[in-house]
Amino acid sequence: MTQRIAVLGAGPSGLAQLRAFDAARRAGAEVPEIVCFEKQSDLGGMWNYTWRTGLDQHGEPVHASMYRYLWSNGPKECLEFADYSFEEHFGRPIASYPPRPVLRDYIMGRIERSGLRDQIRFNTAVHSVEYSEDTGKFTVTVRELEEDRMVSEEFDWVVVGTGHFSTPNAPAFEGLSQFPGRVLHAHDFRDACEFTGKDLLLVGSSYSAEDIGTQCHKYGAKSVTFSYRSAPMGYDWPEAFSERPLLLRVEGNTAHFVDGSSQEVDAIILCTGYQHHFPFLPDELTLRTGNRLYPQGLYKGVFWIDNPKLIYLGMQDQYYTFNMFDAQAWFARDVILGRIPLPDAEVMRADSAEWFARENATTGADEDIDFQAAYVRDLVDRTDYPEFAIEGVAEMFKEWLRDKQAGILDYRNRSYRSAITGTLAPPHHTPWMEAMDDSLEAFLGQGEAQDAARGKPRNAAVAAPPGVIPNLRPERAPVPVPELLRESA
Ligand code: FAD
Ligand code: NAP
Ligand code: MG
Repeated sequence: MTQRIAVLGAGPSGLAQLRAFDAARRAGAEVPEIVCFEKQSDLGGMWNYTWRTGLDQHGEPVHASMYRYLWSNGPKECLEFADYSFEEHFGRPIASYPPRPVLRDYIMGRIERSGLRDQIRFNTAVHSVEYSEDTGKFTVTVRELEEDRMVSEEFDWVVVGTGHFSTPNAPAFEGLSQFPGRVLHAHDFRDACEFTGKDLLLVGSSYSAEDIGTQCHKYGAKSVTFSYRSAPMGYDWPEAFSERPLLLRVEGNTAHFVDGSSQEVDAIILCTGYQHHFPFLPDELTLRTGNRLYPQGLYKGVFWIDNPKLIYLGMQDQYYTFNMFDAQAWFARDVILGRIPLPDAEVMRADSAEWFARENATTGADEDIDFQAAYVRDLVDRTDYPEFAIEGVAEMFKEWLRDKQAGILDYRNRSYRSAITGTLAPPHHTPWMEAMDDSLEAFLGQGEAQDAARGKPRNAAVAAPPGVIPNLRPERAPVPVPELLRESA
């Protein structure tokens, strides 16, 4: 009988799993039946924007942590799929740091063009997964949101691709309940314009703090104060920014820090990270980890060692993203297809412990990048995922870190070379600090955007060469432009 696989989530990780099996099928392999369950009304995962916060229209937790005017915080050349380049999707080279709708279009394009949408059941939230030792199968119970009905089905394998940047880690600080301004977690941040003219306090010193802080500055916040627990970000900040040690307590509008200093603030955003959260899994199948490069309990970062019919994708802290999820999905596919045998549990545990120790031994970002590159290399070398310059991408990540040090407000104006096509990205038509319109149309130039909406591959030969992209210098105020591919409700 054909095996059945449940893929939970249609974000970049879950979609990588669909694409991996499709590649095998196209090459003539017989592949299992795949059902992908997605609680949102469209694919794209975190890359879908919604104005909603808290619970959605069906009472399910809102997945999205992305916000308006979010631009990629790393070069697109570092996340490019090895089997589907940006040039193939857009028909011409594009700049290195696209805004969210452009990356969403790219993620969707690979799936639309391979006709994989039919494998996804949208508006379907996974509520429980149970494993039976007797049958050797999983029972996956979902809530069909529009019908408001619970349905159960059996599967031989379960692939968890539900992401880990949606459930806030929100520590409490003394006085927050009396604070007269707004207090929110980064997960609920949607629009920097809300904070124009305000003095902001951002707790945290990682990507969310950095990006929400710089973005609020871009859209007119009066000042941005960061509060760090372990270490300041240490960029050469412009005058409107400052970094202080950990917040101790809040009294009225005054924030007090552990070094005895204080600051008047109008709003507080907790950029304190996220929890791995799998409310649909029983204890014995639940991955419990902090946000790290090698979570424990997984063989090759994917197979749940205590029951390797359960697979987790994308649960690592991420330098590499889309291409790492692909590497994982191809590896998982080949194990499921019986092309790669899994060793026994003790060998898997020893292998995992070795990687875990290796991660613990790294010091500094460059070594962390090399560690993740070695991990991706280990996977890619075991499957037919197209070879790409993984170590070259690692060097690009290091260059990116240096570019951020050189200018935290203008690193996004830089260009990098694709590891897939070899093309050096053209510069964007507008410096990031002046690019207020984050729409795909503005980024690409209007005409061609229409073609992308219809999923039509464009002819690179007739596309505008780099440098002659129309300069659509947007107005200071953000212009609402409809998304090309429908955004979920
Ligand atoms: P997700 O994209 O989170 O997708 C998980 C999917 O599972 C979602 O569609 C969700 O609806 C679905 N799901 C969850 N629970 C259930 C359930 N119970 N039932 C059914 N479906 C469910 N990465 C980059 O490479 N570049 C960036 O610039 C970048 N910016 C980021 C900005 C922010 C604010 C955040 C939070 C993350 C950012 N990332 C970025 C990382 C981002 O998480 C990855 O790019 C990528 O989206 C992870 O893919 P994923 O499929 O693992 O998870
Ligand atoms: P993160 O990288 O896990 O960082 C969490 C931060 O919270 C750390 O600085 C941590 O400090 C701090 N923290 C945790 N608990 C705390 C506490 N009790 N008190 C004070 N500080 C505490 O999470 P993130 O910054 O939200 O990033 C998540 C993901 O989103 C990343 O993959 C990132 O790339 C992505 N992202 C991308 C963009 C973009 O521009 N495209 C924007 C935002 C986020 P310690 O260092 O002390 O642990
Ligand atoms: Mg380390």
